[in-house]
Amino acid sequence: MRVAVLKEDNCQPKKCNDECQVFCPPVRNGQECIIMDEQTGKPHISESLCIGCGICINKCPHDALIIENLPSELETDMIHRYSMNGFRLFRLPTPSKESVVGILGPNGMGKSTAISALSGRMTPNLGDWLDQEPDWDNVIESLPKGELRDFFIAIQKGSIRVALKPQNVDKLPKRINGTVHDLLTKVDERGLLEATTRSLGIDHLLQRTVQQLSGGELQRMAICATILRDAEVYFFDEPSSYLDIHERMRIVRIIQDLAETKRVIVIEHDLAVLDVLADLVHIVYGKKGAFGIFTPARSTRQAINTYLDGFLPEENVRIRDKPIKFLRHRDRNAEIGTPVVSWGGLEKQLGEFKLTSGEGAVHRSEVVGVVGSNGTGKSTMVKILAGEHEYDGGWVTADATISYKPQHIDVDIDGSVQLWLDSELGPRWRSGEFNVNVIKALGIDQLLPKRVKKLSGGERQAVSIAVCLGREADLYLLDEPSAHLDANARMEAAKAIRRTMEANEKSAFVIDHDVYFIDIVSDSLLVFEGKGGVEGRATGPYNLREGMNRFLAGVDVTFRRDHDSRRPRINKNESRKDREQRNSGDYYSYDA
Ligand code: ADP
Ligand code: SF4
Repeated sequence: MRVAVLKEDNCQPKKCNDECQVFCPPVRNGQECIIMDEQTGKPHISESLCIGCGICINKCPHDALIIENLPSELETDMIHRYSMNGFRLFRLPTPSKESVVGILGPNGMGKSTAISALSGRMTPNLGDWLDQEPDWDNVIESLPKGELRDFFIAIQKGSIRVALKPQNVDKLPKRINGTVHDLLTKVDERGLLEATTRSLGIDHLLQRTVQQLSGGELQRMAICATILRDAEVYFFDEPSSYLDIHERMRIVRIIQDLAETKRVIVIEHDLAVLDVLADLVHIVYGKKGAFGIFTPARSTRQAINTYLDGFLPEENVRIRDKPIKFLRHRDRNAEIGTPVVSWGGLEKQLGEFKLTSGEGAVHRSEVVGVVGSNGTGKSTMVKILAGEHEYDGGWVTADATISYKPQHIDVDIDGSVQLWLDSELGPRWRSGEFNVNVIKALGIDQLLPKRVKKLSGGERQAVSIAVCLGREADLYLLDEPSAHLDANARMEAAKAIRRTMEANEKSAFVIDHDVYFIDIVSDSLLVFEGKGGVEGRATGPYNLREGMNRFLAGVDVTFRRDHDSRRPRINKNESRKDREQRNSGDYYSYDA
């Protein structure tokens, strides 16, 4: 089956000479393989006449075309197609009774489309995009007998209600006014407001307005509002963003409790969290913006191992060139250069909050992972080290220039990604190592013509990381770079950060809560302990092993190693391994 997709944002008919049509061999032979739309000037490509030569892809000056051959058995499995040369979705995940079903894969492969179909908001057209009023009967008939078919029958009867926790909680303050209490009271269909706010640790926030909440507080409020609805199916789209590891473990328990009586689907890119949270996982793969294919559910362990390995054996599909591997037994600290900044006994009072530190130093080419609960002073400390904040006591040796990527990315650029990069970085992003190691590695070369306002959360994050890494500075501070990036993009971002620091002999602090991301990005760890909003104490940087043990002892979570992939896996609380490792102080299991 041939799939021809036009990337609408890239196609700029006023700035080309219809190269796709002019050079298309079937067109030159008199066939109407590509017709230009009279109104928009954009091409319509006939998939039945296209011979798949790929000439149009190479001739298009704006990289606007995708032509792919897909296995013919998928033909009968098309669930939805937006337009003639638009995105299409194959197969769907199945919401299962009393289970947490996870979805794993990049953004832009149809997860939102799948959720729209599964929530009954959109009737799938099974590929017949001209059909303006698709029919549920056809959808149901097209499915084999089983849980998904039964589910759609219930959707058609209108007997299934769905509650959704949206992905971008940072947009909520723009849309909602009033206090947290007002909002939650309105949606409390199950009469669980008090118990749920308490278990999520937001009961002290009820009288605040939505505008006063931090990212992690907004996330917990949104999760709470979803649970309070009386529904049969609950979707959580990226529930872990902005939460620290304590809070991540807490929402794992809360979502699992919900799944004892309800169906739950989660889209989660923190693989350590997905691993403990989900019972089953569907991998989704495809080509961004062109097509997405959901695979049948696998056990969570097998799905994550397969995903990291990059090859889906059942489907015979490679989803990544190389496997993602976790380094073991290597003291990365030993390979780095001379100190850039050192400090000792720092003290800083900020209102009610007090930050203190031990003694430490950061070296050239070193990437320091910064871990600890929300509100323990991580960004404050790094800004002190960069000379951006005054401090009340202690010492810092040198002032360094800093390039900072904040947690919330507020860009007010009415133009393209290219314009954003040009205005921040001048011409230097266009070539050289930076172009290869960062721009291309993060897929930003594919986004250049896209308007900044239309970027997805993950795309915006990727460009912000590139902007931060592209500036001239001594110290780079990236605050939660993993937020909204999919699991693969997280690994690419970690590598891009490491390569930039190594190539330029600079240093970076990376604040993040995703343990896999921290493991891959960090040479050493600065560990924050204390009570969020009250007091924080920074110790380290430690080597990775010592730092992880210290940090995880503080959150009381142990990791074992998967015996095949060697990836870290969170132990079930009070399991035999959990108790053994806790007793021996081996919280991150380097030796298993
Ligand atoms: P995900 O949730 O995995 O990021 P989506 O389901 O939102 O993916 O989108 C997959 C693709 O479908 C995107 O490339 C998007 O441009 C396209 N798409 C989404 N909604 C529409 C629509 N209403 N019309 C045309 N294309 C759409
Ligand atoms: Fe024409 Fe298809 Fe070749 Fe493109 S890939 S030039 S549409 S035949």
